[in-house]
Amino acid sequence: MTHLSGGPALPQERRLVTAVPGPKSLELLARKNAAVAAGVGVTLPVFVTRAGGGVLEDVDGNSLIDFGSGIAVASVGNSAEAVVRRATEQLEAFTHTCFMVTPYEGYVEVAERLAELTPGDHPKKSALFNSGAEAVENAVKIARAHTRRTAVVVFDHGYHGRTNLTMALTAKNMPYKQGFGPFAPEVYRVPLAYPFRWKGDAQACAAEAAEAAIDQITKQIGAENVAAVIIEPIAGEGGFIEPAKGFLPRIAEFAKANGIVFVADEIQTGFCRTGQWFACEDEGIVPDLITTAKGIAGGLPLAAVTGRAEIMDAAHSGGLGGTYGGNPVACAAALGSIETMKELDLPARARRIEEIMKPRLAALMDKYDVIGEVRGRGAMIAVELVASGTRDGAKEPDAATAAAVAKACHAAGLVVLTCGTYGNVLRFLPPLVIGEDLLNEGLDIIESAFAGR
Ligand SMILES: *Cc1c(COP(=O)(O)O)cnc(C)c1O
Repeated sequence: MTHLSGGPALPQERRLVTAVPGPKSLELLARKNAAVAAGVGVTLPVFVTRAGGGVLEDVDGNSLIDFGSGIAVASVGNSAEAVVRRATEQLEAFTHTCFMVTPYEGYVEVAERLAELTPGDHPKKSALFNSGAEAVENAVKIARAHTRRTAVVVFDHGYHGRTNLTMALTAKNMPYKQGFGPFAPEVYRVPLAYPFRWKGDAQACAAEAAEAAIDQITKQIGAENVAAVIIEPIAGEGGFIEPAKGFLPRIAEFAKANGIVFVADEIQTGFCRTGQWFACEDEGIVPDLITTAKGIAGGLPLAAVTGRAEIMDAAHSGGLGGTYGGNPVACAAALGSIETMKELDLPARARRIEEIMKPRLAALMDKYDVIGEVRGRGAMIAVELVASGTRDGAKEPDAATAAAVAKACHAAGLVVLTCGTYGNVLRFLPPLVIGEDLLNEGLDIIESAFAGR
């Protein structure tokens, strides 16, 4: 079966002609190590020459199955036809004027699409940026301008970026924060309803976690001082944690009752990834502001803050923006990406991917007790690994096995990523346009990796 995107004819097959990484990749890795700062790490040092559909081709002529999508970015596939067509037309017309100097239609059109596609039918406005972190930073600026309050509440296991403010918002120290402080003030972290690791009754997780979070906000910060609560509807880097049902609505309701701006960080979960356009639709949440990036533009750098017009308009003219924010080529790519998502009904494709992956991973869990849980929605699926014999008790995180399984998958030509506060989660983020045969072949490789551990 060929892949669903119309990209360049790239054989949709896994093909290994050398070890992974091969000799040419290893040569390039030596050059990378000599020329690129050590802080910029690499998960799998195969150097890519072409990519599309569900595969990546490397300099040695290997073709790898892609279960990473460049971290949930290439949801429409690499070089999707409409993305290439629109971005190419834009490249030939003009590449940059700066929207804040002399504007152009593409930026406005992206803002119009965002208003239509994001949850809620209230009047909405958007501002465009270059990266997810920048979008989150600007959501904080906007919420502070609107509320004239300073405190920002975030959650355990949250990830919001690598700039100074977003490091402060991010929960995990290594590798994101270690040695990079001091961090921005007025950031407060409260509990997340993480069912698998909730101490006590799992059924009570949502209510207990929400109560603990709200208690901390009211007693330690003062709700009247809080500008925004920022939450990922499914925690991404933190381990693909779906908060227990009822937790998000309770936090959203509390925010509303207290004049706090509720910000959904949908940078990883947004744009069809979880089987809906946005993950907060799952429980009918209508955020005040929503941050998007990753999947928005088929691989070109673009990010957005979208939300209630009266909140978005709180910042004074000139207070928001940036030289490249909403670059015309990135906007054209976003319009091509959104067109592809609609044409191919990618939310349905994501649900189909879940339908194929979940039962096979559940069968694997029956076989191997190092798999503590299979979770996630749509094409955002993960398994959390625990030390053998601890699944029903201490649930001791097993990062070593996660790393070993990922390594075995890489050697067999399957790109997988790990994540999680404890580093013990294998995460799967295939392009939504991947063919079902490749998806199943990838799952075969995962099965063999567990068997051969
Ligand atoms: C990736 C990510 C970010 C940061 O995006 P960048 O484009 O890497 O700055 C922020 N929030 C979430 C939820 C993310 O997954």
